[in-house]
Amino acid sequence: MKKKISSSPYPDHIIKRVDRPTTIVEEGLIQKKDERDGGFYKASQGDYGEFLKNEYKRFVPKSPLSGALVSMTGILGHVVDTPKEEYKENTNTAWSVSSWKPMPQISITQAPNTNDPEFMAYHIKELAYFLKADAVGICKLPPYSVFTNSKSDGSKVELNHKYAIAILIDQGWNAADAFNGSDWISNSMSFVSYSTSAFISCIMADYIRRLGYPARAHHAMNYQVVVPPILLWAGLGEMCRIGDIVLNPFLGPRFKAAVITTDLPLKIDKPIDFGLQDFCDKCRKCARECPVQAISYDKKIMFNGYEKWDNNIEKCTSMRVGNQNGSGCGTCIKVCPWNKPYTPFHRMINRVMRNVPLARNFGAWADDLFGYGKPNDKKKWWLDIEERDGVFQIPKSKNN
Ligand code: SF4
Ligand code: SF4
Repeated sequence: MKKKISSSPYPDHIIKRVDRPTTIVEEGLIQKKDERDGGFYKASQGDYGEFLKNEYKRFVPKSPLSGALVSMTGILGHVVDTPKEEYKENTNTAWSVSSWKPMPQISITQAPNTNDPEFMAYHIKELAYFLKADAVGICKLPPYSVFTNSKSDGSKVELNHKYAIAILIDQGWNAADAFNGSDWISNSMSFVSYSTSAFISCIMADYIRRLGYPARAHHAMNYQVVVPPILLWAGLGEMCRIGDIVLNPFLGPRFKAAVITTDLPLKIDKPIDFGLQDFCDKCRKCARECPVQAISYDKKIMFNGYEKWDNNIEKCTSMRVGNQNGSGCGTCIKVCPWNKPYTPFHRMINRVMRNVPLARNFGAWADDLFGYGKPNDKKKWWLDIEERDGVFQIPKSKNN
């Protein structure tokens, strides 16, 4: 394929590529996960107590903005795969809400010019950028990343696609700069990225099916895969101290991801190494600032075949679901020194931190010195409003 120009908003080509992720992944030791083992599911079932079980129902919609976002994302949970009910209307019908039905989405034959893996990888990445993704990477679908059972009905997950396309959506620097980490915009920051990544992934999966290849979207409202190992293999980041979180060299931990699995032939990417293991070893800022001390200060551990920093999922889930002073929590994202705007100055610092191990000794110290991690009230634009008993009101308690 002739050299092509990438539309990536970030220069991902300058990041060092490696054959394996920078943290150990012992494929033979990994036990596949049941989706019902997740912290939020456990909270919803009462495993963390009655209070969190009740709060789970309202912890996102108690903020009117995150409520609106989760509502739209929920609709997209129904269109991840070929619709069961196909379009039977006259296709000449004028487009309107009343005439809309899901259209057939899988061609019987494969579309022409779709079997060159290198070109199709370029094509699919450009499509993702066209749809406003902030980063995209491709890997083989690790079989151990597929859930055993779905949390929606406990049914067995059957997914054997060959490839995974992962997209990242930035939660936005301005909100991340303005908020204090756990106030009334926190869940909206998560769900603006969840909803956008859901929208993009559903369109990409639909498009690939129209080309004649099976494809399924996996997003916050309907996953069949565990996302972090896919992000590692697709070269979108390294594991970080926050726990089961992948950190991207340009977005830091300030993103949400969605995945499209497919059999469309694609050239895969390689994992990346930008020195994060060394940086997180030295930094520990997220552990220091986590309001419930859910992040480890210690060395990495091996857990279920993965090398990772330990994190206390129950404490973290309890904070995010049970937060009475805001909606959710993203303090670790807020304070991370890699959560920065993409300005020439920060690009220069980013380059130093990626390439000069000695400089990483001063990363967190310098970040504190410049005052990063504090709320920037001049940028605060959202309303502090909380729904209680069906009435929107000034929150009883504010975390800012
Ligand atoms: S989301 Fe909040 S509670 Fe959870 S680890 Fe991050 S800072 Fe701690
Ligand atoms: S705050 Fe520091 S230790 Fe935590 S994830 Fe970010 S770089 Fe790593």
